[in-house]
Amino acid sequence: MSHASVLEAAGLDPNDLSGGTLSVSTPIDGNEIASLKEHTQDQVAAMIDRAGTAFEAWRQVPAPRRGELVRLIGDELRANKQQLGELVSLECGKILQEGLGEVQEMIDICDFAVGVSRQLYGLTIASERPGHAMRETWHPLGVCGVVTAFNFPVAPWCWNSALALVCGDPVIWKPSEKAPLTALATQVIVDRAVARFGDAPDGLSQVVIGGADLGRMLSASPDVAIVSATGSTRMGNAVGQALAARFGRCILELGGNNGMIVAPSADLEMAIRAIVFSAVGTAGQRCTSLRRLIVHDDVYDELVPRLVAVYAGLPIGDPLADGILVGPLIDGPAHQGMQEALKRAEADGGLVHGGERILAAEHPDAFYVNPAIVEMPSQTEIVREETFAPILYVMRYSDLDGAIAIHNDVPQGLSSCIFSTDVRETEQFLSGVGSDCGIANVNIGPSGAEIGGAFGGEKDTGGGRESGSDAWKGYMRRQTNTVNYSRDLPLAQGITFEI
Ligand code: NAD
Repeated sequence: MSHASVLEAAGLDPNDLSGGTLSVSTPIDGNEIASLKEHTQDQVAAMIDRAGTAFEAWRQVPAPRRGELVRLIGDELRANKQQLGELVSLECGKILQEGLGEVQEMIDICDFAVGVSRQLYGLTIASERPGHAMRETWHPLGVCGVVTAFNFPVAPWCWNSALALVCGDPVIWKPSEKAPLTALATQVIVDRAVARFGDAPDGLSQVVIGGADLGRMLSASPDVAIVSATGSTRMGNAVGQALAARFGRCILELGGNNGMIVAPSADLEMAIRAIVFSAVGTAGQRCTSLRRLIVHDDVYDELVPRLVAVYAGLPIGDPLADGILVGPLIDGPAHQGMQEALKRAEADGGLVHGGERILAAEHPDAFYVNPAIVEMPSQTEIVREETFAPILYVMRYSDLDGAIAIHNDVPQGLSSCIFSTDVRETEQFLSGVGSDCGIANVNIGPSGAEIGGAFGGEKDTGGGRESGSDAWKGYMRRQTNTVNYSRDLPLAQGITFEI
């Protein structure tokens, strides 16, 4: 299929895709596919105002009715799954299966949020005073800014927005400047749902096109009650500090450096499949990509050569083509970062398998690489950093306590896993003295989370949680109510205060 036909099928108007200052290219061949007009700061300020007005109306709509809008968004996403999935592949380079999977995640979270719209439950609390009732209620919070990264250009928007909308919060989305087309195509889908819904307020869901400076406006504005930001730890640091300075709320979903422990009892066939999917999927450009493999001495010499052999046969190329498992890196700087990391690992005594650039003659402006496996003598500084590319560092261990110590000795704390059939080991890994990550799995790789659980991580990953479980509470304002239905005025803690 031609790249132009992918853009058209996704509902993008060709007139909107040219003549602007933001050049968007596809990592498939490096060619420009659009040049978009960027919003000015004045336009963004006006969008914040419109969202504020939308909030006044939307917070009064009963939550199950707000859920109806999200049901319609899910409905429209189902109808456009193929088209949006193809655009995700075109714009960010992940293979079509993963592009479709990302849209499926959007559909799943819409379904989940529709259910939540009827379950915004508070507590009934026992009061210590006679004739008093206590309860906890949840109210809409305000305008929700959503900042997203290039590698998951649409699903994280939906994890946030589906919940924010049922919670009563309008959404302003600042997508990555490397992936704005998927955001515009998503907005077309949302607009169709809004039209079917009938009476949603104007400005309920808006998209800001532009760079980090426009994202900064969302963090700085006192009229944006909450910012949920997905991206690098550096970005999260800036957003977190800006929000803290004005006591705004933030949800931060930042970098990961995810590990797997392979124990002597592991099912190696399963482990190999899980390792390859999670280390090379999305060309190693997932926040949950597997980056560190900690392998027991007893299985190291069997596992690692087998992995090197599987890596040597991986089909790499056009992510929209059948049978391809690894697409391109997002751009030249990503390739440069990968090569620099490999050099540093080598200087630290690492043995590098793979990692070379390929297909450069056919695509001089695109960056395809052989995913790399690097056998490391220890967890040196480069291993402790997140390099957003398909590099899998492999290290040895001899006892589980030591393996968990290596595992946790990185600044990031997103996702983790153990392959073992020994329940003592797996339970230790999941216990309070095991993995220190927000996600810890057994006999499953670290990537590819379901929407039902709360998603996010600790330490430099930012501490945010979004998607399933009770993450909806992050988008609402908690209020504690005490009602005195007696004819006395007893004070709490038995205090006497006679006037
Ligand atoms: P990035 O930090 O360069 O950009 C992410 C977004 O932040 C972009 O939209 C950008 O314009 C915006 N931005 C940058 N500085 C800002 C600021 N000061 N204020 C407001 N907005 C600002 O990240 P990227 O290269 O697009 O994505 C890769 C990174 O994202 C990796 O570190 C990856 O691990 C992380 N990521 C994390 C998750 C997660 O859920 N934890 C998911 C996907 C990606």
